[in-house]
Amino acid sequence: MTHHITLIPGDGIGPEVAEATVRAVEATGVVAEWELVDAGAKAFAETGELLPKAVFQSLHRTHVGLKGPTATPVAGGHKSINVTLRKKLDLFTNFRPVRMLPGLKTRFQDLPIDMVIFRENTEDLYSGLEHEVVKDVVESLKVITRTASIRIARATFHFARGHGRKKVTAVHKANIMKLSDGLFLKCCREVAAEYSEIQYEELIVDNTCMQLVMRPETFDVLLLPNLYGDIVSDLAAGLVGGLGIVPGANLGEHDAVFEAVHGTAPDIAGQGKANPTALMQSAALMLAHLGEREPAQRLQHAIEGVYSDGKNLTGDVGGASSTTEFTNAVISRLAC
Ligand code: NAD
Repeated sequence: MTHHITLIPGDGIGPEVAEATVRAVEATGVVAEWELVDAGAKAFAETGELLPKAVFQSLHRTHVGLKGPTATPVAGGHKSINVTLRKKLDLFTNFRPVRMLPGLKTRFQDLPIDMVIFRENTEDLYSGLEHEVVKDVVESLKVITRTASIRIARATFHFARGHGRKKVTAVHKANIMKLSDGLFLKCCREVAAEYSEIQYEELIVDNTCMQLVMRPETFDVLLLPNLYGDIVSDLAAGLVGGLGIVPGANLGEHDAVFEAVHGTAPDIAGQGKANPTALMQSAALMLAHLGEREPAQRLQHAIEGVYSDGKNLTGDVGGASSTTEFTNAVISRLAC
């Protein structure tokens, strides 16, 4: 069966990790027809649009995308392409499994870290509703709705039950944002009550950060609104070797876009140094989503094998290999 997949290479290191990932996916034997569409700087240079219609037209056809990172200017400029894409396609679940890879030397290498982050993907302070009330006084609206909170909580508990997970931790700041985070918690509690076999706990976000550093192995599944989810995802990535490692998926009712947690890494772009592990692991999630479970597992095992072996790792995780050398090592293992 041929799978039609929208490929958005993105900016910075995006095209490098996307090319590596396409090679690895094809080496699994899965037959994929990639619909290549640009979003970000290249698209803007060619079409005058950062997120051209062609991206949505392709995703409406394929319903599955593999996306590299796209740049967002700081304190001004255009809106985030990611936020726009997630909202327009209603990709309300951001799913990020955070696991220690075998053999990888990190500060926490002795701990069995294996947690899954569920981040609400469509609202909160990412509503983009900001305005200047009077000169030098700015308001930014944090939007929390019952609909979005219930559906991310349901997605989280549904996953936890389906994967034999024991505990869900809802993360909040409802001691200060009593209405908005208060509503988020109320919804989490309501859904938790339907899953009595799963332990449910609540943690304030600042305490969560401290506990994640002190006792990361005690976390199982985390359920967070958008902004805390974004921040905690990078913190968690740091526990298991950095941003080059952690994969992700943006999931909606009809569409799914798989992308790494990391950004465009402008400091190393174009140098052949980027670690493609995060996008490759995202592609393994994508293959499973497409029903290609066995190739997904083989790709995951091949990546883990390269880490166990430790000879072909990129600089961000203590190695000296290039993106291509790492990719060749993964492909060699797939060929075995
Ligand atoms: P970043 O993730 O791009 O980089 C942070 C650090 O991690 C850098 O030192 C970088 O070299 C390193 N790093 C990241 N990914 C790596 C990889 N695969 N291999 C090796 N090293 C890697 O974060 P930033 O610098 O804060 O953001 C840069 C740009 O990326 C910004 O414009 C931001 O908006 C954008 N961004 C996009 C996404 C996305 O498209 N999903 C996500 C986050 C940030």
